[in-house]
Amino acid sequence: MSQQTTIRKLAELVNTPVEKLLEQLAEAGMKFGGPDQVVTSAEKIKLLGFLRRTHGKASPQAEEVAAPKKITLARRKVQELTVGGGRSKTTVNVEVRQKRTYVKAAEAPPPAVGEMADGERAEVLRKLEESRQRNLAEQQRLAEADRARAEDLERKRQEEETQRLAEEQRKAEEDQRQKGVPAAPQDAADAAPRAARPAAPHHRPAPDRVAPGHKHKPRGSHAMVAGIEDDEAASRFAGQLHLSAADRARRSSARPGSRSKPRRQEVRGGAGGGAGGFERPTAPVVREVAVGDSITVADLAQKLALKGGDVVKAMFKMGVMATITQTIDHDTAVLVVEELGHKAVRADSDDAETELLAHVEQAQGDRTPRPPVVTIMGHVDHGKTSLLDYLRRTKVATGEAGGITQHIGAYHVETPKGVISFLDTPGHAAFTSMRARGAKLTDIVVLVVAADDGVMPQTKEAIQHARAAGVPLIVAINKIDKSTADPLRVKNELLAEQVVAEDFGGDTQMVELSAKVGTGVDDLLDAISLQAEVLELRAVSEGRASGVVIESALDKGRGPVATVLVQEGRLKKGDYLVCGVQYGRVRALFDETGSQPDSAGPSIPVQVLGLSGVPDAGDDFVVVKDERLAKDVAQQRDAKRRESRLVQSAGSRMEDIMAQMGKGEGQQVLNLLVKADVQGSVEALKQSLTALSNDQIRINVISSGVGGITESDANVAATTKATVIGFNVRADASARRIIESNGVDLRYFSIIYDVIDQVKQVASGLLGVEIREEIIGIAEVRDVFRSSKFGAVAGCMVVEGVVKRNKPIRVLRDNTVVFEGELESLRRFKENVEEVRNGTECGIGVKEYNDVKPGDQIECFERIEVQRTL
Ligand code: GDP
Repeated sequence: MSQQTTIRKLAELVNTPVEKLLEQLAEAGMKFGGPDQVVTSAEKIKLLGFLRRTHGKASPQAEEVAAPKKITLARRKVQELTVGGGRSKTTVNVEVRQKRTYVKAAEAPPPAVGEMADGERAEVLRKLEESRQRNLAEQQRLAEADRARAEDLERKRQEEETQRLAEEQRKAEEDQRQKGVPAAPQDAADAAPRAARPAAPHHRPAPDRVAPGHKHKPRGSHAMVAGIEDDEAASRFAGQLHLSAADRARRSSARPGSRSKPRRQEVRGGAGGGAGGFERPTAPVVREVAVGDSITVADLAQKLALKGGDVVKAMFKMGVMATITQTIDHDTAVLVVEELGHKAVRADSDDAETELLAHVEQAQGDRTPRPPVVTIMGHVDHGKTSLLDYLRRTKVATGEAGGITQHIGAYHVETPKGVISFLDTPGHAAFTSMRARGAKLTDIVVLVVAADDGVMPQTKEAIQHARAAGVPLIVAINKIDKSTADPLRVKNELLAEQVVAEDFGGDTQMVELSAKVGTGVDDLLDAISLQAEVLELRAVSEGRASGVVIESALDKGRGPVATVLVQEGRLKKGDYLVCGVQYGRVRALFDETGSQPDSAGPSIPVQVLGLSGVPDAGDDFVVVKDERLAKDVAQQRDAKRRESRLVQSAGSRMEDIMAQMGKGEGQQVLNLLVKADVQGSVEALKQSLTALSNDQIRINVISSGVGGITESDANVAATTKATVIGFNVRADASARRIIESNGVDLRYFSIIYDVIDQVKQVASGLLGVEIREEIIGIAEVRDVFRSSKFGAVAGCMVVEGVVKRNKPIRVLRDNTVVFEGELESLRRFKENVEEVRNGTECGIGVKEYNDVKPGDQIECFERIEVQRTL
């Protein structure tokens, strides 16, 4: 139906004289020049509102309360009636109108009291009960009123109908008498209603109610509007005003009290019968909602198929204030669900996990030999990286990407005796736990010991880790190309650690090699293959894959990427998987050569694209049959993780801790939120920081992740009083606002040692000098120019503080540090300047860095010494 009608047309539609309509419009405050002017939907609504008011409508509030309790459906039936006989025989249409009002059945039973015996919730329960009683009374009252009104209307209508029929008949007879000829039935039918109009001004002979065969307009919408409106005249008017569905929806939802969702469903069900048949509206949809220990309001709304706002509103009415993102406990959620007329069932928090387990068990099959997974350990500078590099360079089968191997966290090499996979874990001395994690998925540890240096502290540590994990060792005595190399000494020193070489009568293979020139590397590979044979490593090589995440990051172009090591089955492109609290569908697989294999079998590392987020290194992954299960498991895990994070006691800020430590008041809790540029650093920081806990202080990493510090990080930090640690990453603008307004302690670092040192000092209650980096200015890169003399020069605007020529700088992209260095040049127009202040444009040349891009930020900082005080 057209949204724009002229006044004349509208008058015809609503069966009101044009003049009267113009009058009404004028009264409603809308001036129109003449009957051919267009009336917009908005004007129709305004008029409708006006008419509703003038029809003596009760206050809008009363109407709102009334709204949810009943629905009224109008139905129209057209019958043909033949009047007269012989020559004067004519056919008239008789329209019978019926109206039915459905009153909502008794309210849902009160929620099981057993669920909420707790005194804390008594108040909510009381409010709920009160509101229920109120609603019940109101409902009865309205039902009574409505019944009376319906009867009244029905009586009136019948009177009108009789009157009209009589009138029509009289008119028809008169017509015929005047013309002297029998009118064609069609004409008479057309004439009849028109003639009848003045006699029944309130009546609504719609133009389409004529003879059979005439195309009926869909009437469902009329019924719907009639159902929603309370006032009879106004409702009829609404239908006739031909308001579009959207307009009506806007109107009905704009009324605050209308808990319209279930009702709308009822109404729609009724109207679905269309013009022809009349169907009882289907019952309101009662959903069974599984509620776990806690749920966010948004998730609950989704399960109820409601808008988040509706649920918030419903909760507000129950006296519970919550935002959409807030997590509510089980009992509150149950109350809300039942208040909204649905059923809550207790969700077993392990539902999806159980299904997952059953699922994984099904995937078992024949176990066939698989390649060994090797981790290289050893003391710093003994040549771990060199060995890994050498193997990668010389042994990895080069792929399509021009023979350039990619760092994906692991790679596999092919030897005449089979495939071997190496984990490419970074060998930072401080992060023994990282290595421990590496050992978990490792079959064999290669312990690198420099022949010129011998057994060192981290050599011993590595031995302990391998032992604890029950993983066999192979010793690589490295740097034998050096003149100072003394392999025998190494073997002797290892003896003291109960690592006995085969030639000493023990069972540990030892290989002398040089990672630099490659001597003996093949012997090492042979030794690994031999060890693998002894271990009889087996796995299911087909079917659904499972395994472990070894490295992950958020890639700017590709989204979350994770390198996984397949442990069982075969991971294929297109598979659905759960990966820690993330899930997704494998969009693409990449191997270490940059090529895209279709699948990866046991012990093969492969990079996965297509996850919902960045999983943590060390997370398990499992391929599941469909996305639903993947999503369920991931969401359940996520909810659990969030819960346990919330449960953790709020800690104290670093300064407070320092102050309280001196007073010797029990154990302090230091909450930290760690964000870093790569997952490796996150993991490393997490492990080493928590390890700093002692009797006096418990260090709690409540949240961690890859990427800039976001608004939600800032919120978490604010609520848990956590100190935020940004390692090579920065807070974005919205996060900064929250951090500033809540006094969150935010610290930026670029050296892992500094982080540990600072936390360690706090943990040990030391008062000393703290070196802090202070950001003194930020410039935004607007454009980049190439100059033959200076290389890339960034046209910048200083947006904060001051940029100084002789202070160190960092280049940030997406709140992540991409370069740290110095300024080559700082210019205003063509002048070299020492500093540029906020709000000023300048040209910046960065020393030894030509990759500055528009949109980057250049931050200028200085290191200052701060004396700690109590
Ligand atoms: P990592 O700390 O254990 O990873 O040790 P790196 O692989 O970084 O090696 C430390 C230093 O030892 C580097 O300067 C290497 O060039 C050197 N290096 C490693 N392997 C050998 C080797 O077999 N022979 C010699 N001469 N130098 C080596």
